[in-house]
This record gives sequence, C-alpha cells and structure tokens, in this order.
Amino acid sequence: MRQSKLFTKTKKESPEGEVSKNAELLIRGGFVHKEMSGVYSYLPLGLRVIKKIENIIREEMNGVGGQEILMSAFQPKENWEKTGRWESMDDLYKVPDSSGKEVALGPTHEEIVVPILKNYISSYKDFPIAIYQIQNKFRMELRAKSGLLRGREFIMKDMYSFHTNKEDFENFYEKMKGVYKSIFKRIGIGHLTYMTFASGGTFSKYSHEFQTITPVGEDTIYVDEGSSVAVNKEVFNDEILDQLGLDKAKMVEHRAIEVGNIFDLKTKYSVPFDLSYTDEKGEKNTVLMGCYGIGLGRLMGTVVEVLSDDKGIIWPASIAPFSIHLLSLGEDEAVLKEADKVYDALIKNNVEVLFDDRSGFSAGEKFADSDLLGIPLRVVVSARSIKEGGIELKKRTEEKGKIVSLNELLSLLAPKS
Ligand code: ATP
Ligand code: MG
Repeated sequence: MRQSKLFTKTKKESPEGEVSKNAELLIRGGFVHKEMSGVYSYLPLGLRVIKKIENIIREEMNGVGGQEILMSAFQPKENWEKTGRWESMDDLYKVPDSSGKEVALGPTHEEIVVPILKNYISSYKDFPIAIYQIQNKFRMELRAKSGLLRGREFIMKDMYSFHTNKEDFENFYEKMKGVYKSIFKRIGIGHLTYMTFASGGTFSKYSHEFQTITPVGEDTIYVDEGSSVAVNKEVFNDEILDQLGLDKAKMVEHRAIEVGNIFDLKTKYSVPFDLSYTDEKGEKNTVLMGCYGIGLGRLMGTVVEVLSDDKGIIWPASIAPFSIHLLSLGEDEAVLKEADKVYDALIKNNVEVLFDDRSGFSAGEKFADSDLLGIPLRVVVSARSIKEGGIELKKRTEEKGKIVSLNELLSLLAPKS
C-alpha cells in the first residue's frame, strides 16, 4: 500500500489525557482512534494487526476441532435471569428499548451458547464439542484508563467446550494449555507470558490465567523461574504453594496483565438451561463445560507495552501490519523510479509492503514515522543507496542497515523451504 494514499496520518504529539503507552503509540501511529474512555475504533493499520492476531488464534482453535460461530451482542434478559447474572454481574450493560423492555449487551456468551447447543444435541454421540467466536464484548469497566488493555467495548475470542465426562474435559483442558502457549509464542510474547494458577471461583479449585509480565499490568503474580510456573497473588498462600510443590523463597514477584484464561465451568451453566444428553444406557446426564478466553485488543496493547522503545512500536513479524516499510528519500527522479521498481517487485512477490512514497517529507521525518509504526524491516531507496549499488535494508531492532540488491532482498524474503 502507498502511504500517500493512507487516510490516516501519524502524529508527533501524544493525545491529550491519554496516560497509557499502548494507547499513546497506537493513536500517534494511526492504528486506532479513541471514541471515549475504553472505546477504540480500529483503523487500516490497526485492523491489519488485529486480523493477523485473529488468524493465529483461529488456526489454533480450528486445530483442536473448534467450530467458529458468531453470536449476537444483544442478548435476552430472560437468559440472564436464568443464571442469576442479570442481578449479580456488576459490569453488565442493561439496555432499555422504547417499549420498556430490556436486553443485555453481551459481556460474555454462556447465556447464549448453551441454549443454542441445547437446540441441537441430545446424545452422548454428539460429544465432545468446542464452539468459539471472535466478537465484541461490552462491559461497564470502571477502570478504563489502560488504553487497549481494559476496554468497555473490546474484542474477545471465547471458546466453550462441552463434554460427557470429567476425563474427556480434562484431556481437552490440558490440550488447551498447550494451544494457549503456542498462541502467545506465535504472537511474540511467549518469553514474557506465564501460565498462572488463579482462584477458580465457586466450583473448581484453580483456573489458569496467561499473564504477560509488564509494569503496567493490573495483577501481581509470583513466578518460579525454574519451572516457569506462576501463581496469582490473590491465591498465593502456603497451602497452595504446598499443593503445587513450589518453594516460596524461589518465587519472584512481577506485575502482569492477563491476556487469556481457561476455566473449568463444570455444570454451572448447563444446569440452569438443563443442557443434558442421554448416555449409552439411555440415562439422562448434565453436560460438563469449559471456557477459554483471549482478549485480542488487550493482546495488541500488551505487545505494544512490552515490545516498544522510545521511538515507537516494534511489531513481531507474525502480527506486523506489513512485513516491509519501503521509503523513498528525496524528490530525485532516479530515486522515485528505483523505489517504484522495488515496490512493484515486492508486490509481485506477494510481500506485504507499506511504501512511503510521500513527497515533501524529510528523511528524518520518514525515519521517525517508520520507527513509530514499527514494521519489522525498513528498506530505503535514496541517491546514496543507488550510488552504493542497491537499497538499504535495516531491521527495526537494529541501529545500522546494510546495502543489498533487489534480488538479495527478494531471496531473503522468500519462504524458506
Ligand atoms: P480481568 O480480570 O482483566 O477483568 P476477566 O477475568 O474479567 O479479566 P474474562 O471475562 O475471563 O476476563 O475474559 C477473557 C479475556 O478477555 C481476558 O483474559 C482478557 O484477555 C480479555 N478481557 C477481559 N476484560 C477485558 C477488557 N475490559 N478489555 C479488554 N480485554 C478484556
Ligand atoms: Mg473483568
């Protein structure tokens, strides 16, 4: 894409009243637009990142047999009354219409997915089932000051699994631990993300949170660096450490943000909706459930928090909006012609490239924008690079670039077989 055609522009100044680094950099780069506290629109560059994150998650969910659906954001009040959450959930948006009826604006989807499933399944032969969606959630968050980390409207992947017995559930749950590790690794924050024991709520002993270490995180966790096991401060006591075989003296305290979590729901939502099946003996049993969440916007904000420097964002290649940022410097005819040639060759080779072809910008301005946008590779065509026999290639993470030929660049980018 030609940057001269991109309707968004970078901003030098921090947005007023924005205290979080992720929102500041994402707004300055034109990735997102802030509508109000905790509510952001995704612009072309930001949407490209979200789509990449989405596709990594989608691949991993499909890999464990997940079936993708898209559930409604408007949800019937009756369903929420059935589970008791119409009253008990503090952050639920209750939306009235002109007839005086109210609906819930979905903060999560147990109240929808369970009745959907009930409509279709009846026999043990139907199981196991895993259903997921990637969709916008709404929560009346009081502390929406952390940019994309805590939204009032935010994108979540929520998966729900359904099982006839504990063993089947446990197998699937174990598999999901591996899947989650793989997702965070692929997104480029695996080295900072710990599976963390947390309290499991009313029914199960523990849930597992995936916590990424960052000073702006809202949670405090204790990490055993040897085993990479972590425990949330909320459940951190001698009895629990004992159960998990952890040595308190070796645990290191960190601030962290929860990028995902997995839960054993047991029969918490299947009972109120009587979600059941008939077993081999013709007897009726209640379905067991698990749920598995990841916040996509929170993930994007977390990557910005943990992988940026004083000049801007540093996207991991797997979720970068483009693979290459091509810059033409100066208004010299030969430079413009050469840069066009490089752009065409990259497009022809299916390389995702953002081409800063804007005129009237100094080299310094283009470099600063490039650092802010954080595309992993920068390719510069200038009078100097042409004189030195090619184009200058530099990684976002490196100080100095090197001169390469177009063919060398293309072979560097070609998928390794
Ligand atoms: P938190 O403790 O941070 O409020 P939660 O326990 O309420 O999170 P879940 O309801 O389990 O979170 O949601 C699943 C995932 O959705 C979380 O792990 C997180 O990544 C993301 N998420 C939850 N709330 C928000 C929010 N307000 N803004 C952005 N992402 C969120
Ligand atoms: Mg919450």
